[in-house]
Amino acid sequence: CHFAYFMEYGLRAKPRQPAAFDAPQVGTFLHYLLEHVTADVLKRGGFAQVEETELRELTTYYIRRYMEQELRNFQGRGARFKYLFARLRNTAWAVVEQVAEEMRHSDFVPLEFELSFGDGGTLPAVVVSEPDAQLRIGGKVDRVDGWVKDGKLYLRVVDYKSGRKSFDLAAVRMGLDIQMLLYLFALQKEGAQHFGHEIEPAGVLYLPARDEILSAERNIPPEKLRREREKQLRRSGLLLSDPEVLQAMEHESLQEPHFLPVRVGKDGSISGSIASAARLGKLGRYVDKLVRQIGREVRQGNIDADPCCHSEEDSYCQYCDWAPACHFQDGRDGDHLRYILPVKPEEFWDELEREDEEGGDK
Ligand code: SF4
Repeated sequence: CHFAYFMEYGLRAKPRQPAAFDAPQVGTFLHYLLEHVTADVLKRGGFAQVEETELRELTTYYIRRYMEQELRNFQGRGARFKYLFARLRNTAWAVVEQVAEEMRHSDFVPLEFELSFGDGGTLPAVVVSEPDAQLRIGGKVDRVDGWVKDGKLYLRVVDYKSGRKSFDLAAVRMGLDIQMLLYLFALQKEGAQHFGHEIEPAGVLYLPARDEILSAERNIPPEKLRREREKQLRRSGLLLSDPEVLQAMEHESLQEPHFLPVRVGKDGSISGSIASAARLGKLGRYVDKLVRQIGREVRQGNIDADPCCHSEEDSYCQYCDWAPACHFQDGRDGDHLRYILPVKPEEFWDELEREDEEGGDK
């Protein structure tokens, strides 16, 4: 390209570098903050014991530490980067405050941060054994919260999400987003020694690690504004439907839940993203089956270009680094899109029920 040559050798222009944190950098920063602030708060007796001003001081301290140690006091960074980082501080405060607010209303306590599985990790890799092979899965969960009742430790796995991703059974059905479930069930099987209790899975939660800027009328009543914010920042996930456990997760969950993905009917019935212990058990076997199937396909040498998507315009190809090498074209040779079809929760559980009875592979 003549113009490219002119830009590079004539003008000696430099490619444009993003001035801001990119999404993964923002994620790393918020993870760092949540981990350190929460760990310190727990040492001071938990969020209920820490005043708002103290929490702010703590957050400011760790923001400064991150700036000094991880960003080397902005060495080599321009004014715009500093400005954008200063703005990110407001998001950071908002995120810490909403986590604190949730934890003040909960008996669940963070037990682990960045809990790692696999080589060099806190816990061994998740192992799936086949007669002629073994699949070992390593990775990390952002946070593990627990609550003890009758000698059993109820665990939930928490994942911080800076984007808008939410837990979706339709994706799970396709073998996507199953990591948190995989680790939850691995903790149930293998975590008793580490945690010193028999373990009951209490669910998985995606926690929005972002601040939400709302569009609203200038004179919106504060209560309405609060409700709108709450709606945007509600967690998604799948939780054990046991009322006692839900109440321990959020004290008001059986009357007026603010954080958990559950709803309370006029008759007091609980619905939403919940599942009985029996269904969670079936889901555990289903996830195990999915992982075996994925492992088998990899071993058989399946390298098809077959990305999952909700629509043609919304496939992973848009973000994939390998797009220039793969030249994906739906329908050409073996290339094909796999559509994530919506599924109602009851349909999903019925399907799981049938699979479980058949005991066969997906
Ligand atoms: S660009 Fe190619 S490799 Fe990347 S997701 Fe799409 S099909 Fe797969």
